[in-house]
Amino acid sequence: MKKELICIACPLGCRLTARWLNEETIDITGNKCPRGEEYGKEEVIDPKRVVTATVRLKSTSIKRLPVMTKGTVPKDKIAELLNRLYTIELSAPVLRGEVVMDMPDEGVQVLSSRTVRR
Ligand code: SF4
Repeated sequence: MKKELICIACPLGCRLTARWLNEETIDITGNKCPRGEEYGKEEVIDPKRVVTATVRLKSTSIKRLPVMTKGTVPKDKIAELLNRLYTIELSAPVLRGEVVMDMPDEGVQVLSSRTVRR
């Protein structure tokens, strides 16, 4: 079995091919650097993404605060993460890098991407 992928680890976007040699061994080809092999294996075994979104802010001229996850999140947890993010409403001030939501069971933190003063 094989799967075609595009590496998203850098802007070059190498076309990768993942081939299952047996149940435990996956061969990655098409990568121009070691990061592509790492990305390709993770993508077919346990795909993850950095998630960016916005959350509601009250009492400021800025109504949405841009946020992003600290590190990557398993793809099958992204919908749950976004559903939880869209239910919260924050009050300024919020500092860039401040934790705005925590999902400790998944080891995921969501951080503010900017500072918003009152
Ligand atoms: S394989 Fe390496 S060079 Fe190619 S897109 Fe991935 S990170 Fe970039």
